[in-house]
Amino acid sequence: MTLKITDETPPPGYERLVYAEDPEAGLRAYICLHSTACGPAAGGCRMWDYDSRDAARADVLRLARGMTAKNALAGLGLGGGKSVIIGNARTDKTSEMLRAFGRAVEALNGQYYTAEDVGISPEDMRIVAGETAFAVGLEGGEHGSGDPSPFTAEGVFQCLKVGAADVFGTDDLTGRRVLVQGLGSVGMSLAEKLHAAGASLIVADVNEAALEHARNDLGAEICPVDAVFDTQMDIFAPCALGGILTEDTAQRLSARLVCGAANNQLSEDAVADTLLGRGIRYLPDYVVNAGGIISVAGEIHKAGQAYRQKRLRDVAARIGEILAVSSRTGQSTIQVADQIVDDILERASTARQETPA
Ligand code: NAD
Repeated sequence: MTLKITDETPPPGYERLVYAEDPEAGLRAYICLHSTACGPAAGGCRMWDYDSRDAARADVLRLARGMTAKNALAGLGLGGGKSVIIGNARTDKTSEMLRAFGRAVEALNGQYYTAEDVGISPEDMRIVAGETAFAVGLEGGEHGSGDPSPFTAEGVFQCLKVGAADVFGTDDLTGRRVLVQGLGSVGMSLAEKLHAAGASLIVADVNEAALEHARNDLGAEICPVDAVFDTQMDIFAPCALGGILTEDTAQRLSARLVCGAANNQLSEDAVADTLLGRGIRYLPDYVVNAGGIISVAGEIHKAGQAYRQKRLRDVAARIGEILAVSSRTGQSTIQVADQIVDDILERASTARQETPA
């Protein structure tokens, strides 16, 4: 075993950044703890073929910070962290590499909980969990959370209804034209809920089988993937890719509400102002898609379904709060959300300082 863990100096505002390397196991990974003010850091492990170690470092810093915001806004008693393994998930991944990663997580003594992310499956996490008690997102067992997608879809649906009430004066979705972009694990589940609620579905995907199911079983209208922003709709639910809302597409979008699961929907923060200026309500993705981390948090806290359902309702309430403050102050929803995160972290840090050691 040749695992070597090196602390690197993190940027200001970050608690800890470690580089874990095991040449024999082929592991090169970063683990970043952005904040543990609210509790131990939690966030998935991404395996990606980064061009350089610096690119991996930049990504883990960005992702860990995002997890602090997501976990704080969902009230999970967890801080923000993330890990990245450098390598091609299809060709470079080995059991020995995953075990070495597990030992690196274990060496952080519970300051960080890891789970699946892009390139890492529940089966991979099971191997990681052979080396550490701090791997979650596992299938089976008393508290295993398994596939988080149904929770994510339910959270998006609940938030969408809160958004609809704000924009249209009613959360009744009957006849409302909702375009779901991406009919994967989350998008299809969301489309089914929208159909059951009486919405008029429009769907876009590159997967023919998923489109067929939506057309035949949910009465959905099919939109070519490159015509999404030229289509008439009331609500846009992006559930495929990040970066789809740019200055250009924000100008073309006909929806009055955006609420979907996709991560990092805005190509840059300024797009939130463009949407605001056009009277389009944007529900921040990192709030509405918290169902996945809520599912994992239930596993960390060894809590049951009631805990997860309650947290989903809390997230929907949080969206209501963000919309109310945005209406009152004229700030964009992401500015409001960021301010709430700052307030939560400040209160948590103060409470931690006042707690006797
Ligand atoms: P998925 O891979 O199961 O589904 C993605 C779908 O998007 C696929 O059906 C794919 O064919 C489709 N797609 C790809 N390119 C497209 C395009 N150009 N236009 C339209 N559709 C396209 O992923 P998922 O688990 O459903 O997650 C969807 C999004 O939500 C991702 O951005 C993910 O990061 C985010 N998210 C997921 C969860 C979760 O619990 N699964 C939690 C939080 C965030």
